[in-house]
Amino acid sequence: VNAVLTNPNQSGESESGGPTRASDNTVYLLRSRIFTGQYEAGEKLPTERQLADQLGTSRITVRAALKELEAFGFVLARIGSRGGWWVVDPGSLATCWRNWMHSNSHQIEAMLECGETIESEIAAFAASRATADDIQTLETLLAHMKAAASSLGPHFAFHQALAKACGNRYLGQSMLIVANQIFLPSDRVMAGDMEEFYAGHEAIVAAIGDRDPERAREALKRHHRFSRHVMEVEA
Ligand SMILES: [Zn+2]
Repeated sequence: VNAVLTNPNQSGESESGGPTRASDNTVYLLRSRIFTGQYEAGEKLPTERQLADQLGTSRITVRAALKELEAFGFVLARIGSRGGWWVVDPGSLATCWRNWMHSNSHQIEAMLECGETIESEIAAFAASRATADDIQTLETLLAHMKAAASSLGPHFAFHQALAKACGNRYLGQSMLIVANQIFLPSDRVMAGDMEEFYAGHEAIVAAIGDRDPERAREALKRHHRFSRHVMEVEA
């Protein structure tokens, strides 16, 4: 079984942190979409062909990756009129999350620390460098987050836009590498204090709009305290 699912720092990935084999890379990319809520519990995935096109790989590689994710309980295949690949139901995905927390317990703090360190500086740089278009995009995605009250899909798009707004693609890519490895389960986020969740993101956008790097950095750290609470990890 592929170790990329349980231990991204050992077999399955290179020293630089990136996956090595094509199927490992596809597992990593599909898994990250589940981890970040881009694909939510109970949601139907695009077809194997569509995924192959999106990810620039073969349908055979996509199928192998999905079978591996199936073995870990993240997805299931259905036949008939609702045929295709689906993310498992919320209860089953919650079990996946607990298993993931258990097998990664020794490195979750390191993941969160790294994510917070990089992203707080991203927020500070964004406050200095974001274009008017970047700020407009962040405001639009914030509105999408509130409108999609039961979905985390727009949330990841917000953080991608924040990474872009910092004006340093290496910092942005570094943040996304970490963010893609943190399993932030939608159901636990949505069961949390949603007022605080939205307020945290609003504070980030407001500080960037006011061109205030220090406040942007603090707002990002406030948001990470929420994430830690969801993960039940104390700083
Ligand atoms: Zn967020």
